Amino acid sequence: MKNRTILNMPDGEHNKRVDSTLHDDTLRRSEDYLFIPLDSESRLEQAASTRQVLLHSCCAPCSGELMEAMLESGISMTIFFYNPNIHPKKEYEIRKNENIRFAEKMKIKFVDADYDVQDWFGRANGMENEPERGIRCTMCFDMRFARTALYAHENGFKVFTSSLGISRWKNMDQINECGVRAASHYEGMEYWTHNWRLGGGSERMYQIAKREQFYKQEYCGCIYSLRDSNAWRIAKGRDPIKMGEEYYGE
Ligand code: SF4
Repeated sequence: MKNRTILNMPDGEHNKRVDSTLHDDTLRRSEDYLFIPLDSESRLEQAASTRQVLLHSCCAPCSGELMEAMLESGISMTIFFYNPNIHPKKEYEIRKNENIRFAEKMKIKFVDADYDVQDWFGRANGMENEPERGIRCTMCFDMRFARTALYAHENGFKVFTSSLGISRWKNMDQINECGVRAASHYEGMEYWTHNWRLGGGSERMYQIAKREQFYKQEYCGCIYSLRDSNAWRIAKGRDPIKMGEEYYGE
């Protein structure tokens, strides 16, 4: 395990303690945690009425900002980690364990769902050479969100969302369509289509990743994205991806 320290923000702005009087039990349990402050305009109003969100998380760097933004806005969450697209298993375990590490630190419930890798490969059959953001990715989001919506339905959540959309490499419309489609199978269920990149979200995502020294994955997740990322790197004269070696803030 690498030595990880909590760093001050690069712009010199001091982190502040969450005012535990403003929030619910989840926040009170997190009262020793130092958040990056949200300005008042960035607080999340939508879905606050439910105050309970099921968060599909793809990885710690992407979900870190959502977790902090929701907690600071008084919204409790459960993290649902269902990502059978990630390959190989070594990379899957690293990403999952980074997410568990941060969830434990924040005292947020973490649901470790199945690694249905054979199911994922079966669905991807014939789509091996599709480009990123194409139909293979639609299949990949649909699969992950279908399971997330089912868990939400079976466990009393009325709203779910995903960290996938915060990445600038992703097509947010494509992700939102998949999320809304998954939610539509359950009466009263909503996929929260909030644009997590706005209101400084993209910047906070990197700030949190550096502060927490999260593992820095260098490809989307599946074996085909690994293949294509390596081909791109080699064409640029760079070394192939070395798994388990890169961390933010080092
Ligand atoms: S590129 Fe990413 S989103 Fe697309 S199929 Fe592969 S893992 Fe899924």
